[in-house]
Amino acid sequence: MTVQVTVWNEYVHEREDEHVRELYPNGIHGAIADGLESGNRTVQTATLQEPDHGLTEAVLEETDVLVWWSHCANGEVRDEIADRVVDRVHSGMGFVPVHSGKNSKPFERLMGTTCAIKYRHGGETERIWVADPGHPIADGLEESFEIPSTEMYGEPYDVPEPDRTVFISWFEGGEVFRSGLCYRRGRGRIFAFRPGHEEYPIFFQDEVRRVLSNAVDWAAPTAGATAVRGEVEPVESIESTDDP
Ligand code: ZN
Repeated sequence: MTVQVTVWNEYVHEREDEHVRELYPNGIHGAIADGLESGNRTVQTATLQEPDHGLTEAVLEETDVLVWWSHCANGEVRDEIADRVVDRVHSGMGFVPVHSGKNSKPFERLMGTTCAIKYRHGGETERIWVADPGHPIADGLEESFEIPSTEMYGEPYDVPEPDRTVFISWFEGGEVFRSGLCYRRGRGRIFAFRPGHEEYPIFFQDEVRRVLSNAVDWAAPTAGATAVRGEVEPVESIESTDDP
């Protein structure tokens, strides 16, 4: 089965900040999409500036997994489009918010919490530990790997308790963070991944690309049973009755 991936990016830092543009000449979405190219996938990109932010009903309907990077323009995403993403997750689309995409409208609505954290800029080292060995999203990784320079995110992280915690990060400055979390919402699978600050070439790093590739495969919908909703006739005959 071919998995249809859409990589969404607000695409603001790369156009406004020369340093970020040099790191990501094709945009963060371009770098993520390159890392996801494989024979069993088709990968397209979409950005905030396109009509409907590139997330029309038709695009979402054909998308199996939506990867999402956003930061300074989280508030500019139209409510109607955020709701459209949430509805598609409920009906089975996988959703992979990366880094500050944790404060995107779709992720906050799916979680029902603030998703607030501590953070610190400055380029310290992050060591990411596999906390759930054998989980498909950790496939092919060593026990831990390092990102040489990044922004720190620290606990407490205001999200609901996840179904699985695949990764835990330690930072040079001493904080820790649950950096790879799995959820189900409706029929959709969600994987929230912490790394990906725009000031560093994180989306070119092999281990990060491996995680995102594994996450897309894990989050892709399976056929499953038909979901029947609403009032129904009994499957077996019922002898008890409200009639006197
Ligand atoms: Zn950041």
